[in-house]
Amino acid sequence: MSMRVVDILVPVALDQAYSYRVPAGMELSPGDVVAVPLGARESIGVVWAENPNPNPRLHNRLKDVEAKLDVEPLKAELRSFIDWVSNYTLSSRGMVLRMALRMGDGNPGRERVGVRLSGPKPKRMTPARARVLELLADGLIRSKSETAVEAGVSAGVVDGLIDEGTLETVVLPPEPLMRVPDPEFRKPEFSLGQLAAADALRTTVDQGGYTVTLLDGVTGSGKTEVYFEAVAENIRLKRQTLILMPEIALTAGFLDRFADRFGVRPAEWHSQLNARKRARTWAAVAANEVPVIVGARSALFLPYADLGLVIVDEEHDPAYKQEDGAHYHARDMAVVRGSIAKFPVILASATPSVESEVNARKGRYRRLHLPERFGGAHLPHIEPIDLRREGPPRGRFISPRLAEAVQNTLERKEQALLFLNRRGFAPLTLCRTCGFRLQCPNCDAWLVDHRFKRRLVCHHCGFNMPPPAECPQCHATESFAAVGPGVERLHQEAADLFPQARILVLSSDLVESVERLRSELDDVAEGRFDLVIGTQLVAKGHHFPKLNLVGIVDADLGLGNGDPRAAERTFQMLHQVVGRAGREEGRGVGFLQTHQPEHPVMQALIRGDREAFYENEIALREATSYPPFGRLAGLVVSAADKHAAESYGRALVGLAPKDEQVRVLGPAEAPIAVMRGRHRFRILVKAPRAYDLSGYLRDWLSQAPKTKGSLQLEVDVDPQSF
Ligand code: ADP
Ligand code: ZN
Repeated sequence: MSMRVVDILVPVALDQAYSYRVPAGMELSPGDVVAVPLGARESIGVVWAENPNPNPRLHNRLKDVEAKLDVEPLKAELRSFIDWVSNYTLSSRGMVLRMALRMGDGNPGRERVGVRLSGPKPKRMTPARARVLELLADGLIRSKSETAVEAGVSAGVVDGLIDEGTLETVVLPPEPLMRVPDPEFRKPEFSLGQLAAADALRTTVDQGGYTVTLLDGVTGSGKTEVYFEAVAENIRLKRQTLILMPEIALTAGFLDRFADRFGVRPAEWHSQLNARKRARTWAAVAANEVPVIVGARSALFLPYADLGLVIVDEEHDPAYKQEDGAHYHARDMAVVRGSIAKFPVILASATPSVESEVNARKGRYRRLHLPERFGGAHLPHIEPIDLRREGPPRGRFISPRLAEAVQNTLERKEQALLFLNRRGFAPLTLCRTCGFRLQCPNCDAWLVDHRFKRRLVCHHCGFNMPPPAECPQCHATESFAAVGPGVERLHQEAADLFPQARILVLSSDLVESVERLRSELDDVAEGRFDLVIGTQLVAKGHHFPKLNLVGIVDADLGLGNGDPRAAERTFQMLHQVVGRAGREEGRGVGFLQTHQPEHPVMQALIRGDREAFYENEIALREATSYPPFGRLAGLVVSAADKHAAESYGRALVGLAPKDEQVRVLGPAEAPIAVMRGRHRFRILVKAPRAYDLSGYLRDWLSQAPKTKGSLQLEVDVDPQSF
């Protein structure tokens, strides 16, 4: 008898699919989700291919597929995407598949119980019971919980009436995750510039097919309103839309804005969803019941029934790069998904990544430009404060001129924001007696003083401890000094300077929950705080109508770390933060505290000359063949033993295939040489832009000796910092 065999991919760190026998009577096609035995365990898996000629001698050793699961199969388009991502990033196919199978384990289709009037009047009548009967007198079916709420009674009252036979229960279908958005719900009145861009996007969606558009508009130009027109058109076409956001914090006001435009909130996808919500969302996306989803990068791997448009908001944001598990850049992979499934992709930013800017300049992407703020507001005027000449006194971080400007702003009952991209109270604690610095025992890093939590914390591995009573080296007591500022220290200083101000500190480590953060952001937007002190959490997309002053406390912070992307990151972040000011009234002003006002990044910001920044940066990248003019990959070798890591790195470099187009540099100590107790060495691989770097790496790594013991090798194609 002939035996059917299929190859099944399982979500573990493996590249190859395993062969399994299909039991008689089981119908299986590629994409079906199944349960299979895997070693001693059972695993979920996906049929990747038929195996028409399995090796007959292996037959008896193959195991049977256990069951076909009652979930939508993964479409060919998603399977190709998974193969592509794995092939490009060198992450195993199983690990990439795992991202597509994050369907949670709750029961997705929660049924609801409905009630209606059926039997005789109850023997005992109470006012509460009477209210229920009155409500249901129309003979309609209502859900049990809705009935209790509307009648203003407890659930027990309704249950009692069911027990007595006065009401009967009916099974209702689960409530849909999302109602259908109405593309005509509230159409905005566009400015002329917006109108042209919106028309162009509508046509793009209407025509369909793969295209990439860079929606390049200054902060406050109304990019969101404009790309909503593309979403509206895609809704009219009854196709699904994915809107990617770099961070869930950003979605706070966004969900409401979406509801203002379309009458319903979009579905959400991010790591903080609970298992049940995840299960429902996954299933609803696959069943084509979710017209629009707003999600973090992992939403790219959902099993869409009919994805027709992806929008990547704040496309320049570094948070789009995932650096654990599979290393991938969600913006780039969104473009790939569009090219595989042939739909349009829209990238939106006020400060495009150098990659996208170059693609637009070379005509590979189409650019739609919104050069002006909506409603005629001006972009904030930016003033440098030269810390070499007019800095604050020692141990203080707000210069007299900035303090005065904040004071004036507060007196005018306007909001101010002080930006410092550093969590905690101080980045370094040292002993004044002997100079000892408090270091992480596991990492090559200082412990950061977090006063709100009364802990010293390592920002790399999470190690933390209470502040020690005495210096571990000289045993001096009360000898510790905080060096440098974090937002908590800035808060202390600001509270001193502006005692009347209602101050909010926003920093990711102080965020208790997404809901809490959202309500705090609302409070800022509603003017319930006068002064906000924040890290990069406040740099992004938020719209704070009353905010008119932004002070950058240390503009140089990101520049000095030797990373070739430092200038780009700093420019983008500072431009975005300053762009929070004056969005409604256009009287915004930014202050830039810096030690190097002559630096090209500072000059571009001060003069409001974005083009100058890109010109300069693009020329530099071209001259050095850095991305996007050349390709890069990073290999990080780590081990508990320094010598083991280094010698493995050397052996690996010795095995690199000879190719005159490729340069292999290193191994050298990684920028953080010790992390989580592991010594780290890095090899950098440089190749020309059109070179198949992934293929080269695959050939090379297939020769690599097996990593034993604590040795680990991580591959990062297109690293974001190098
Ligand atoms: P961006 O994303 O480009 O920074 P937003 O889309 O957040 O800009 O728009 C800035 C502000 O202007 C928001 O409050 C938005 O509601 C408002 N806005 C933009 N375009 C319009 C429009 N056509 N009609 C009314 N309000 C608009
Ligand atoms: Zn550490």
